[in-house]
Amino acid sequence: MVDRRRIPVAAPVFAGNERAYVLECLDSTWISSAGPFVARFEQAFADRTGVRRAEACANGTVALHLVLRALGVGPGDEVVVPALTFVASANAVTYCGARPVFCDIDPVTWNIDPGDLERRLGPRTKAVIAVHLYGHPAPMDELRAVLAGRDVALVEDAAEAHGARYRGSAAGALGDAAAFSFYGNKIITTGEGGMVTTDDEALADRVRLLKGQGMDPSRRYWFIEVGYNYRLTNVAAAIGLAQLERLDWHLGRRRAIADGYRQRLKDLPSLAWQYPLAGAEPSWWMFTIRLVGGGAGRRDRVMAMLAEDGIETRPAFPALHRLPPYRELAPEGGLPVAETVADEGISLPTWAGLSDDDLDVVVASVARAVAADV
Ligand SMILES: *Cc1c(COP(=O)(O)O)cnc(C)c1O
Repeated sequence: MVDRRRIPVAAPVFAGNERAYVLECLDSTWISSAGPFVARFEQAFADRTGVRRAEACANGTVALHLVLRALGVGPGDEVVVPALTFVASANAVTYCGARPVFCDIDPVTWNIDPGDLERRLGPRTKAVIAVHLYGHPAPMDELRAVLAGRDVALVEDAAEAHGARYRGSAAGALGDAAAFSFYGNKIITTGEGGMVTTDDEALADRVRLLKGQGMDPSRRYWFIEVGYNYRLTNVAAAIGLAQLERLDWHLGRRRAIADGYRQRLKDLPSLAWQYPLAGAEPSWWMFTIRLVGGGAGRRDRVMAMLAEDGIETRPAFPALHRLPPYRELAPEGGLPVAETVADEGISLPTWAGLSDDDLDVVVASVARAVAADV
């Protein structure tokens, strides 16, 4: 039977102090970026991540842009980016006038492959962006080993990885600096919003200067360089603080959903997914399956069958070197692992409010679609 209920692939859950804090903003009239929730959110986020500094900003894309600018990335530089990620990971490099260099991924974790990274480094490499894809921590120790002895920054794109952990530390505390997103479908949300985290005080001060139009911190309305208006509003920060207070609840629900999928899909043929690294605790942002050997055509047909059952899914990210703006930068021979996972991946509904009944419906529908020889 076709179940006409719609199960979204992601949705926010506001079950804490969101409403109360937003009303505080309205009642106090502090709704711009000047307001007490911004600093409270930054401090709470830094504490939770285990870093000295957190700088809130307008979204995850500009968080990456701020990090790269603060690191001095500019024209003539290269930044290595895994080919399987959201397009913003590469766009932030392009905004700096630098060149993204695409790198293949590991077939087991789907994160940047340290072996391929070695081949992508060169005299112009200024930074490497380690994306914690779908909330799975990237192999940070192995990446550091590859970069040892080189003057190359290691940046985390932690947009999907709030609360994820790797060998005792939180995502956001694993590189030289990290960028988070609080878009509506992320682990925790402020609608639109972002955060930069780092232990490097000087870097954080640069981020702060750049996000506030380049204004001298000790002289109001005196601008010492060309900056941006990339600030977060007090209203968004109020929502973010309330969301952060319940991060562990969100993570627990997501872990239970991922466990449910893994348990109940494990006997289906030709199905794979991301396997966490040893010592990694993912945030389980999007539980993404791969229809091994089916190619993009079968992926699309299976997605259509799920849609008929009222289940919203999304394809895995397209491999960035196959998108129009980046085709010219595709390496010789392509990046076969990223291309295959991009073609065969489907993200299933994964969010804290997904009920056990919804999970049953999704599992049954996936089983049916996979069994059908489409
Ligand atoms: C969501 C996301 C971003 C961008 O965040 P926005 O807040 O949407 O600008 C960057 N990188 C990755 C990997 C993301 O998933």
